[in-house]
Amino acid sequence: VAEAEKFNVEYWQLEEDKLKRRPKPKALAGRIALVTGGASGIGLATVRLLAEHGANVIVGDINQAGCQAVAADLGGADVASGVAMDVTDFDAVKAGIAAGIVAFGGIDLIVNNAGITRAGSLADTSLEDWDLQYQIMPRGSFLVAKAAENALRAQGLGGDIINICSKNSVFAGPNNIAYSSAKAAQAHMVRLLAAELGDIGVRVNGINPDGVVRGSGIFAGGWGASRAATYGVAEEDLGKYYAQRTVLKEEVLPEHIAMAVLALTNGTLPITTGLLVPVDSGVAAAFMR
Ligand code: NAD
Repeated sequence: VAEAEKFNVEYWQLEEDKLKRRPKPKALAGRIALVTGGASGIGLATVRLLAEHGANVIVGDINQAGCQAVAADLGGADVASGVAMDVTDFDAVKAGIAAGIVAFGGIDLIVNNAGITRAGSLADTSLEDWDLQYQIMPRGSFLVAKAAENALRAQGLGGDIINICSKNSVFAGPNNIAYSSAKAAQAHMVRLLAAELGDIGVRVNGINPDGVVRGSGIFAGGWGASRAATYGVAEEDLGKYYAQRTVLKEEVLPEHIAMAVLALTNGTLPITTGLLVPVDSGVAAAFMR
Protein backbone atom coordinates (compact mmCIF):
# COMPACT_ATOMS: atom_id res chain seq x y z
CA VAL A 1 0.00 0.00 0.00
CA ALA A 2 2.83 2.39 0.95
CA GLU A 3 4.56 1.66 -2.37
CA ALA A 4 1.33 2.32 -4.28
CA GLU A 5 0.79 5.61 -2.44
CA LYS A 6 4.37 6.69 -3.14
CA PHE A 7 3.87 5.84 -6.80
CA ASN A 8 0.65 7.87 -6.90
CA VAL A 9 2.26 10.91 -5.29
CA GLU A 10 5.23 10.76 -7.64
CA TYR A 11 3.05 10.13 -10.66
CA TRP A 12 0.80 13.09 -9.98
CA GLN A 13 3.75 15.34 -9.18
CA LEU A 14 5.16 14.46 -12.58
CA GLU A 15 1.83 15.24 -14.25
CA GLU A 16 1.63 18.61 -12.48
CA ASP A 17 5.15 19.51 -13.57
CA LYS A 18 4.26 18.61 -17.14
CA LEU A 19 1.17 20.79 -16.93
CA LYS A 20 3.22 23.73 -15.71
CA ARG A 21 5.54 23.38 -18.71
CA ARG A 22 2.67 23.50 -21.23
CA PRO A 23 2.26 26.82 -23.01
CA LYS A 24 -0.43 28.96 -21.42
CA PRO A 25 -3.44 29.72 -23.65
CA LYS A 26 -2.85 33.04 -25.34
CA ALA A 27 -5.37 35.81 -25.32
CA LEU A 28 -6.39 37.28 -28.65
CA ALA A 29 -4.92 40.74 -28.07
CA GLY A 30 -3.24 41.87 -31.28
CA ARG A 31 -5.20 39.40 -33.42
CA ILE A 32 -7.36 40.73 -36.26
CA ALA A 33 -10.40 38.62 -37.05
CA LEU A 34 -12.94 38.53 -39.86
CA VAL A 35 -16.25 36.86 -39.06
CA THR A 36 -18.53 36.44 -42.08
CA GLY A 37 -22.23 36.43 -41.29
CA GLY A 38 -21.26 38.27 -38.10
CA ALA A 39 -24.51 40.23 -37.77
CA SER A 40 -26.61 37.38 -36.39
CA GLY A 41 -26.71 34.10 -34.48
CA ILE A 42 -23.50 32.07 -34.23
CA GLY A 43 -21.50 34.76 -36.06
CA LEU A 44 -22.69 37.48 -33.70
CA ALA A 45 -21.86 35.41 -30.59
CA THR A 46 -18.41 34.73 -32.10
CA VAL A 47 -17.78 38.40 -32.87
CA ARG A 48 -18.66 39.31 -29.28
CA LEU A 49 -16.46 36.63 -27.70
CA LEU A 50 -13.44 37.31 -29.92
CA ALA A 51 -13.71 41.05 -29.13
CA GLU A 52 -14.09 40.29 -25.43
CA HIS A 53 -10.83 38.34 -25.62
CA GLY A 54 -8.97 41.25 -27.17
CA ALA A 55 -9.23 40.74 -30.93
CA ASN A 56 -10.13 43.48 -33.36
CA VAL A 57 -13.01 42.19 -35.42
CA ILE A 58 -14.11 42.85 -38.97
CA VAL A 59 -17.82 42.04 -38.96
CA GLY A 60 -18.60 40.99 -42.53
CA ASP A 61 -22.20 40.43 -43.54
CA ILE A 62 -24.55 40.88 -46.47
CA ASN A 63 -26.70 42.76 -43.95
CA GLN A 64 -24.84 46.08 -43.99
CA ALA A 65 -26.95 47.85 -41.37
CA GLY A 66 -26.71 44.78 -39.12
CA CYS A 67 -22.93 44.41 -39.24
CA GLN A 68 -22.38 48.12 -38.75
CA ALA A 69 -24.72 48.14 -35.74
CA VAL A 70 -22.83 45.19 -34.22
CA ALA A 71 -19.49 46.98 -34.72
CA ALA A 72 -20.85 50.20 -33.18
CA ASP A 73 -22.24 48.25 -30.24
CA LEU A 74 -18.81 46.74 -29.55
CA GLY A 75 -17.23 50.15 -29.22
CA GLY A 76 -16.69 51.26 -32.81
CA ALA A 77 -13.46 51.83 -34.68
CA ASP A 78 -11.11 50.85 -31.83
CA VAL A 79 -12.63 47.38 -31.58
CA ALA A 80 -14.66 46.42 -34.61
CA SER A 81 -15.52 47.45 -38.13
CA GLY A 82 -18.74 46.51 -39.94
CA VAL A 83 -18.10 45.69 -43.58
CA ALA A 84 -20.86 44.97 -46.10
CA MET A 85 -19.82 41.75 -47.78
CA ASP A 86 -21.75 39.26 -49.88
CA VAL A 87 -19.53 36.17 -49.79
CA THR A 88 -20.79 35.06 -53.21
CA ASP A 89 -19.24 38.15 -54.79
CA PHE A 90 -15.43 37.87 -55.08
CA ASP A 91 -14.95 41.61 -55.61
CA ALA A 92 -17.01 42.37 -52.49
CA VAL A 93 -15.01 39.82 -50.49
CA LYS A 94 -11.69 41.29 -51.67
CA ALA A 95 -12.90 44.83 -50.91
CA GLY A 96 -14.17 43.80 -47.46
CA ILE A 97 -10.89 42.16 -46.53
CA ALA A 98 -8.94 45.14 -47.85
CA ALA A 99 -11.11 47.51 -45.79
CA GLY A 100 -10.47 45.40 -42.69
CA ILE A 101 -6.74 45.40 -43.32
CA VAL A 102 -6.77 49.18 -43.71
CA ALA A 103 -8.80 49.56 -40.50
CA PHE A 104 -6.67 47.33 -38.28
CA GLY A 105 -3.41 46.71 -40.13
CA GLY A 106 -3.79 43.04 -41.03
CA ILE A 107 -5.87 39.89 -40.76
CA ASP A 108 -4.96 36.60 -39.09
CA LEU A 109 -8.16 34.95 -37.89
CA ILE A 110 -10.99 34.14 -40.28
CA VAL A 111 -14.32 32.59 -39.38
CA ASN A 112 -16.26 31.41 -42.44
CA ASN A 113 -19.68 31.45 -40.85
CA ALA A 114 -22.07 33.07 -43.38
CA GLY A 115 -24.77 30.62 -44.31
CA ILE A 116 -28.36 29.99 -45.24
CA THR A 117 -30.56 26.94 -45.40
CA ARG A 118 -33.19 25.92 -47.90
CA ALA A 119 -34.85 22.70 -46.81
CA GLY A 120 -35.82 20.30 -49.56
CA SER A 121 -35.77 16.75 -50.84
CA LEU A 122 -34.39 15.63 -54.20
CA ALA A 123 -37.79 16.29 -55.78
CA ASP A 124 -38.49 19.71 -54.30
CA THR A 125 -35.06 21.39 -54.18
CA SER A 126 -34.91 23.97 -56.96
CA LEU A 127 -31.71 24.48 -58.94
CA GLU A 128 -31.62 28.06 -57.63
CA ASP A 129 -31.69 26.86 -54.01
CA TRP A 130 -29.01 24.26 -54.74
CA ASP A 131 -26.75 26.87 -56.35
CA LEU A 132 -27.29 29.53 -53.69
CA GLN A 133 -26.33 27.24 -50.80
CA TYR A 134 -23.22 26.07 -52.64
CA GLN A 135 -22.33 29.65 -53.53
CA ILE A 136 -22.60 30.96 -49.99
CA MET A 137 -21.10 28.09 -47.99
CA PRO A 138 -18.34 26.11 -49.79
CA ARG A 139 -17.71 28.66 -52.52
CA GLY A 140 -17.96 31.60 -50.07
CA SER A 141 -15.43 29.95 -47.73
CA PHE A 142 -13.14 29.37 -50.73
CA LEU A 143 -13.43 33.00 -51.89
CA VAL A 144 -12.64 34.38 -48.44
CA ALA A 145 -9.57 32.14 -48.08
CA LYS A 146 -8.47 33.01 -51.61
CA ALA A 147 -8.85 36.74 -51.01
CA ALA A 148 -6.96 36.57 -47.70
CA GLU A 149 -4.13 34.26 -48.80
CA ASN A 150 -1.74 36.95 -50.00
CA ALA A 151 -2.13 38.95 -46.79
CA LEU A 152 -1.68 35.82 -44.65
CA ARG A 153 1.49 34.91 -46.55
CA ALA A 154 2.91 38.45 -46.58
CA GLN A 155 2.32 38.99 -42.86
CA GLY A 156 4.17 35.80 -41.95
CA LEU A 157 2.36 35.63 -38.62
CA GLY A 158 0.51 32.35 -39.13
CA GLY A 159 -3.13 32.48 -38.19
CA ASP A 160 -6.38 30.57 -38.11
CA ILE A 161 -9.25 29.84 -40.45
CA ILE A 162 -12.37 28.28 -38.97
CA ASN A 163 -15.20 27.01 -41.17
CA ILE A 164 -18.55 26.79 -39.42
CA CYS A 165 -19.88 23.63 -41.05
CA SER A 166 -22.63 21.40 -39.61
CA LYS A 167 -23.41 18.00 -38.21
CA ASN A 168 -25.08 17.60 -41.59
CA SER A 169 -21.65 17.63 -43.23
CA VAL A 170 -21.24 14.12 -41.84
CA PHE A 171 -24.78 12.78 -41.36
CA ALA A 172 -27.64 12.84 -43.82
CA GLY A 173 -30.45 14.92 -42.36
CA PRO A 174 -33.95 14.49 -43.73
CA ASN A 175 -35.09 16.82 -46.50
CA ASN A 176 -31.98 18.92 -46.89
CA ILE A 177 -29.98 17.43 -49.73
CA ALA A 178 -28.46 20.68 -50.96
CA TYR A 179 -27.58 22.13 -47.54
CA SER A 180 -26.04 18.88 -46.26
CA SER A 181 -23.93 18.25 -49.32
CA ALA A 182 -22.84 21.91 -49.44
CA LYS A 183 -21.78 21.60 -45.79
CA ALA A 184 -19.85 18.41 -46.61
CA ALA A 185 -17.92 20.32 -49.28
CA GLN A 186 -17.25 23.19 -46.86
CA ALA A 187 -16.06 20.67 -44.25
CA HIS A 188 -13.70 18.81 -46.60
CA MET A 189 -12.22 22.15 -47.58
CA VAL A 190 -11.01 22.40 -43.96
CA ARG A 191 -8.59 19.53 -44.64
CA LEU A 192 -7.61 20.82 -48.08
CA LEU A 193 -6.89 24.34 -46.81
CA ALA A 194 -5.08 22.97 -43.77
CA ALA A 195 -2.76 21.05 -46.10
CA GLU A 196 -2.20 24.12 -48.30
CA LEU A 197 -1.62 26.71 -45.62
CA GLY A 198 0.30 24.70 -43.03
CA ASP A 199 3.60 25.86 -44.55
CA ILE A 200 2.86 29.41 -43.38
CA GLY A 201 1.57 28.37 -39.97
CA VAL A 202 -2.07 28.99 -40.78
CA ARG A 203 -4.17 26.38 -39.04
CA VAL A 204 -7.54 25.51 -40.55
CA ASN A 205 -10.20 23.82 -38.46
CA GLY A 206 -13.95 23.41 -38.63
CA ILE A 207 -16.86 23.20 -36.25
CA ASN A 208 -19.92 21.01 -36.75
CA PRO A 209 -22.77 22.52 -34.73
CA ASP A 210 -26.19 20.95 -34.47
CA GLY A 211 -29.58 22.39 -33.65
CA VAL A 212 -28.70 25.93 -32.55
CA VAL A 213 -32.24 27.24 -32.46
CA ARG A 214 -32.20 30.18 -30.05
CA GLY A 215 -30.81 33.34 -31.63
CA SER A 216 -30.40 31.77 -35.06
CA GLY A 217 -31.82 33.66 -38.02
CA ILE A 218 -31.94 30.55 -40.19
CA PHE A 219 -34.28 28.82 -37.76
CA ALA A 220 -36.49 31.91 -37.64
CA GLY A 221 -36.58 32.16 -41.42
CA GLY A 222 -38.54 29.05 -42.35
CA TRP A 223 -36.02 26.33 -41.48
CA GLY A 224 -37.45 26.02 -37.96
CA ALA A 225 -40.97 25.49 -39.31
CA SER A 226 -39.71 22.89 -41.78
CA ARG A 227 -37.73 21.01 -39.09
CA ALA A 228 -40.64 21.15 -36.64
CA ALA A 229 -42.93 19.66 -39.28
CA THR A 230 -40.38 16.95 -40.14
CA TYR A 231 -40.00 15.94 -36.48
CA GLY A 232 -43.68 16.39 -35.60
CA VAL A 233 -43.14 18.97 -32.83
CA ALA A 234 -44.34 22.55 -32.30
CA GLU A 235 -41.86 25.11 -33.62
CA GLU A 236 -41.47 26.74 -30.19
CA ASP A 237 -40.47 23.33 -28.75
CA LEU A 238 -37.74 22.67 -31.32
CA GLY A 239 -34.86 23.66 -29.01
CA LYS A 240 -36.14 21.28 -26.35
CA TYR A 241 -36.67 18.56 -28.97
CA TYR A 242 -33.07 18.84 -30.16
CA ALA A 243 -31.78 18.81 -26.57
CA GLN A 244 -33.66 15.71 -25.43
CA ARG A 245 -32.32 13.58 -28.28
CA THR A 246 -28.68 14.36 -27.36
CA VAL A 247 -26.26 12.66 -25.02
CA LEU A 248 -25.90 15.66 -22.67
CA LYS A 249 -29.58 16.66 -22.91
CA GLU A 250 -28.49 20.29 -23.27
CA GLU A 251 -29.53 22.84 -25.83
CA VAL A 252 -26.68 24.03 -28.06
CA LEU A 253 -26.44 27.82 -28.04
CA PRO A 254 -24.61 30.24 -30.36
CA GLU A 255 -22.28 31.00 -27.43
CA HIS A 256 -21.16 27.34 -27.34
CA ILE A 257 -20.00 27.56 -30.95
CA ALA A 258 -18.23 30.86 -30.19
CA MET A 259 -16.41 29.18 -27.28
CA ALA A 260 -15.20 26.44 -29.61
CA VAL A 261 -13.90 29.08 -32.06
CA LEU A 262 -12.05 30.70 -29.17
CA ALA A 263 -10.51 27.40 -28.04
CA LEU A 264 -9.35 26.63 -31.58
CA THR A 265 -7.76 30.05 -32.06
CA ASN A 266 -6.35 31.22 -28.72
CA GLY A 267 -3.63 28.62 -28.29
CA THR A 268 -5.66 26.15 -26.23
CA LEU A 269 -5.20 23.59 -29.02
CA PRO A 270 -1.85 24.75 -30.33
CA ILE A 271 -0.89 22.01 -32.80
CA THR A 272 -4.27 21.11 -34.20
CA THR A 273 -5.13 21.63 -37.84
CA GLY A 274 -7.56 19.99 -40.27
CA LEU A 275 -9.89 19.02 -37.42
CA LEU A 276 -13.69 19.09 -37.45
CA VAL A 277 -15.05 19.54 -33.94
CA PRO A 278 -18.63 18.52 -33.22
CA VAL A 279 -20.25 21.07 -30.87
CA ASP A 280 -23.61 19.41 -30.58
CA SER A 281 -24.33 18.10 -27.08
CA GLY A 282 -23.08 14.69 -28.25
CA VAL A 283 -25.48 14.04 -31.11
CA ALA A 284 -22.69 13.00 -33.49
CA ALA A 285 -21.53 10.40 -30.98
CA ALA A 286 -24.88 8.84 -30.25
CA PHE A 287 -28.38 9.59 -31.36
CA MET A 288 -30.49 9.02 -28.25
CA ARG A 289 -33.89 8.66 -29.90
P1 NAD B 1 -28.11 33.28 -38.93
O1 NAD B 1 -29.12 33.37 -40.02
O2 NAD B 1 -28.49 33.77 -37.57
O3 NAD B 1 -26.77 34.00 -39.38
C1 NAD B 1 -26.26 33.90 -40.69
C2 NAD B 1 -25.66 35.24 -41.09
O4 NAD B 1 -25.10 35.07 -42.41
C3 NAD B 1 -26.71 36.36 -41.20
O5 NAD B 1 -26.26 37.51 -40.50
C4 NAD B 1 -26.82 36.61 -42.69
O6 NAD B 1 -27.12 37.98 -43.02
C5 NAD B 1 -25.43 36.23 -43.17
N1 NAD B 1 -25.40 35.91 -44.60
C6 NAD B 1 -26.28 35.20 -45.32
N2 NAD B 1 -25.94 35.16 -46.60
C7 NAD B 1 -24.78 35.87 -46.71
C8 NAD B 1 -23.92 36.21 -47.79
N3 NAD B 1 -24.19 35.82 -49.04
N4 NAD B 1 -22.82 36.92 -47.52
C9 NAD B 1 -22.54 37.33 -46.26
N5 NAD B 1 -23.32 37.08 -45.20
C10 NAD B 1 -24.43 36.34 -45.43
O7 NAD B 1 -27.71 31.73 -38.87
P2 NAD B 1 -26.85 30.87 -37.81
O8 NAD B 1 -27.74 29.80 -37.29
O9 NAD B 1 -26.10 31.73 -36.86
O10 NAD B 1 -25.84 30.14 -38.81
C11 NAD B 1 -24.50 30.52 -38.96
C12 NAD B 1 -23.73 29.39 -39.63
O11 NAD B 1 -23.81 28.21 -38.83
C13 NAD B 1 -24.26 29.00 -41.01
O12 NAD B 1 -23.19 28.67 -41.87
C14 NAD B 1 -25.07 27.77 -40.70
O13 NAD B 1 -25.22 26.93 -41.83
C15 NAD B 1 -24.22 27.13 -39.62
N6 NAD B 1 -24.93 26.17 -38.80
C16 NAD B 1 -26.00 26.56 -38.04
C17 NAD B 1 -26.64 25.62 -37.28
C18 NAD B 1 -27.80 25.96 -36.43
O14 NAD B 1 -28.36 25.02 -35.85
N7 NAD B 1 -28.21 27.21 -36.30
C19 NAD B 1 -26.23 24.28 -37.27
C20 NAD B 1 -25.15 23.93 -38.06
C21 NAD B 1 -24.51 24.89 -38.80
